[in-house]
Amino acid sequence: MKYISTRGQAPSLDFEGVTLAGLAADGGLYVPEAWPQFTRDEIAAMAGLPYAELAARIMTPFVGESLTPQRLRELTAQAYGRFAHAAVTPLRQLDERHWVLELFHGPTLAFKDVALQMLGLLFEEFLARRDDHLTIVGATSGDTGSAAIDAVAGRAKVDIFMLHPHGRVSDVQRRQMTTVIAPNVTNIAIDGSFDDAQAMVKRMFNDKAMTDRFGIAAVNSINWARLMSQVVYYFAAALQLGAPAREVAFAVPTGNFGDVFAGYVAAKMGLPVKRLIVATNINDILHRALSTGDYSAGTVTPTAAPSMDIQVSSNFERLLFDACGRDGAALSAQMAQFDATKDLQLTNAQREAMAALFTSARCEPAQMAQTMRWAYEACGEVLDPHTAIGLYAARAQAGELPADVPVVTLATAHPAKFVDAVERATGVRPPLPARVGDLFEREERCEHLPGTYEAVAAYVADHATPKTGAKEA
Ligand SMILES: *Cc1c(COP(=O)(O)O)cnc(C)c1O
Repeated sequence: MKYISTRGQAPSLDFEGVTLAGLAADGGLYVPEAWPQFTRDEIAAMAGLPYAELAARIMTPFVGESLTPQRLRELTAQAYGRFAHAAVTPLRQLDERHWVLELFHGPTLAFKDVALQMLGLLFEEFLARRDDHLTIVGATSGDTGSAAIDAVAGRAKVDIFMLHPHGRVSDVQRRQMTTVIAPNVTNIAIDGSFDDAQAMVKRMFNDKAMTDRFGIAAVNSINWARLMSQVVYYFAAALQLGAPAREVAFAVPTGNFGDVFAGYVAAKMGLPVKRLIVATNINDILHRALSTGDYSAGTVTPTAAPSMDIQVSSNFERLLFDACGRDGAALSAQMAQFDATKDLQLTNAQREAMAALFTSARCEPAQMAQTMRWAYEACGEVLDPHTAIGLYAARAQAGELPADVPVVTLATAHPAKFVDAVERATGVRPPLPARVGDLFEREERCEHLPGTYEAVAAYVADHATPKTGAKEA
């Protein structure tokens, strides 16, 4: 399997190459040169497989020659062996129409673990083959940071620098990052928003002085291996609900468009996905883009669902690319304009291509709280704020779908991660699961830097390990 850039200029890479890469050299994102397909019979034969085995089946065409089938199975078994639930991503029923897919049974209580536990192992596997060092630079709105740090803490040949917006993540989210005292882990709180942090990371991937000296890799969902890992649970859920004989719809609490893009990939691979419902909070650029074609970034308003407080959704570029007939030159021009003006209008062709599968809804804070209360009072389920936004959108859109299509809301975080917001809405204070341990007793370690690229780049340059053969600056 070869991977190409959405902007059409960078050299193609194999799976090992895209796993260790950040952005493509032309500023684009890597995507498979063609979507692999499973036949209906192949999908039917996946029913009932253990999660790790299903994961290996789904990942095989993407991994290509980079791992033997045997080694891939060992890695998925190891990655998903760390989850606290035997089903890894269990499905729970709310009512006759609605289900939630619990993606938060990993070590750091959000769905990011599903991809990052795998990515940490892939980094280690591929670095062992090369005598090289990797510097991970990431930006987090809260959950990627802890999941990535858990996946690489203490590993040889990898350092991680994780940027989060100062004061804009929950206490649990922050402590899950800052209390990991491993020599290869550095947390940096920056003054600014998640979008500011993400823009700095992207700029570093495009900064030749940095990339010549350091082997810089991505743990954000611009990294293809993350999205690949997330495709698996769409198959797992749909198979349990009767696919391939039955169509299934998914509602996805969305920020950077990585999770829902994995659902799009599942559909491209042959899974009968009836609809993907993109749920946003009041930071609604994606809802505006999908409903009116207006992809223009406003300022970010902090909310009780901080992992969705995003106005620039990196992975939307991957969908825009497919929706313009994979014309890298046209997309490059469109993205250059967006970078310059923060404003992009979808073409009619793009809007039509997206409307075939996607719909969207925006959820106000009061609707989020109401949905949390409904889930608790009517179904006995305590949901986190992100999941509640997804369920709000699922219930708002279910009427547009045939009545026999089940709607699965992705439960992206454990409610204990956002305990104050949950308590405000429901009166319930969900306890932290035992696996996170004595989080509030542990020492924290974190740098605090101004929100400028120069400050962050200088800090990383001073503290990171140069790659093999790099000249001292
Ligand atoms: C990251 C995250 C999201 C958004 O996912 P994207 O892939 O960025 O769209 C939603 N909910 C939670 C809890 C998250 O951590």
